[in-house]
Amino acid sequence: MRNSQTLFFRNASQLLTLAGGPAPRRGRALAELGIVRDGGVLVADGMIVKAGRTRDLAREAKRLKALEIDCRSRVVMPGLVDSHTHLVFAGSRLGDFEQRIRGKTGREIARAGGGILFSARQLAQASQRDLLTRASRFLEQAALFGTTTIEIKSGYGLDVPDELKTLRVIRQLMKASSIEIVPTLLVAHALPRRFRGRKGDYVRFIIQNLIPEAGRRRLAECIDCFCDPTAFDHRQCRRILEAGAAFGMTPRVHADQTGRSGGTQLAVSVAAASADHLDHASPGDIEALARSNVVATLLPGANFFFDSRTYPPARALIEAGAAVALATDFNPGTCPTLNLQFIMSLSCTAMKMTPAEAIAASTINAAYSLRRADRLGSIEAGKQADLIVMGVDDYRKIPYFFAANHCVLTVRQGQVIASRLKQGSRGTRRSRSHALPAIS
Ligand SMILES: [Zn+2]
Repeated sequence: MRNSQTLFFRNASQLLTLAGGPAPRRGRALAELGIVRDGGVLVADGMIVKAGRTRDLAREAKRLKALEIDCRSRVVMPGLVDSHTHLVFAGSRLGDFEQRIRGKTGREIARAGGGILFSARQLAQASQRDLLTRASRFLEQAALFGTTTIEIKSGYGLDVPDELKTLRVIRQLMKASSIEIVPTLLVAHALPRRFRGRKGDYVRFIIQNLIPEAGRRRLAECIDCFCDPTAFDHRQCRRILEAGAAFGMTPRVHADQTGRSGGTQLAVSVAAASADHLDHASPGDIEALARSNVVATLLPGANFFFDSRTYPPARALIEAGAAVALATDFNPGTCPTLNLQFIMSLSCTAMKMTPAEAIAASTINAAYSLRRADRLGSIEAGKQADLIVMGVDDYRKIPYFFAANHCVLTVRQGQVIASRLKQGSRGTRRSRSHALPAIS
């Protein structure tokens, strides 16, 4: 999906390059955005040719006959990378939502037939086509929010046919969607009813049946598990991750979310790409993460949706030197939002990350956690032209004007994949000189 069109994004009030310095960003480097005022980006063949000051690029842009996109009073930055979602599901969990408002706990809701097992029943009844249609709409929404790369986990199947059905939907999305997708096999998400009281048997069943089926078909790039006191223990999860790794799947771990599970230590010991949630990570866990290349992926949207008084320990992680990323955790039960900009706001207000840290955590560090930082996550010559134009003149306004969508243009591989620019802006796609509407 390469575009031969040459584009010149010019006069951005702030161009956030995130350039320079190795990925992942740690400590003070997490707040270094590589800001260029009156910034410009030259894009050709879907790649970034040059980024810098507009006046230093203008001559080359003219020589290449680039289409000019006026980004005055706008921030131009790398496309957002949402590195943790459960985007393929059927129905919703509106019943759980109302029950929780009435004060019911997760356990009570699950006992009454809600929770993950409810989503699993809905998924079992849904056709592959229905799942695909719904997921495609969610991806369109994500692109409007500025997301250009997204990780999608299976996990509501709980048995072999439904998990494979989910992974096939993800594969179809990978072919059809304008967003880059990283497919993850999430096993050991919840214990199906037929295995009640037999967790060990279920883990064995997954390892002997599901992982080899998905592995042989190469349906998943990563493998994930829910290592939590309410789900599976670290020994069971280790066996699962190792079984996935034997098929070339990169481990990721839902770790220490509702209580300390040993998930963080497990992530470090299997050199996982990411340990996610970390609400109950201990000082020792944080130290271990800081000494490793495992990205600490924080998902404060789930805490917000549950009206939690506590949030993951972002400051302690950053100060210890861990590589911190942010993601939505988009799912029907605990975080039904695809707006990563809102997650950035939450990371500032609830976890005391700075706006600059929130941006690096949602771009370059998230790309690193998906093993794509060499190609994505910053605006530098030679990288893929995934960038977004935000309708603000200062990046700090992105989390400050919270719960809004500031993204007006989403570009992936040099092509516009979503636009919220007003209809009737100058030009049409047919006319060479105005192939993209100018932003004024
Ligand atoms: Zn999750």
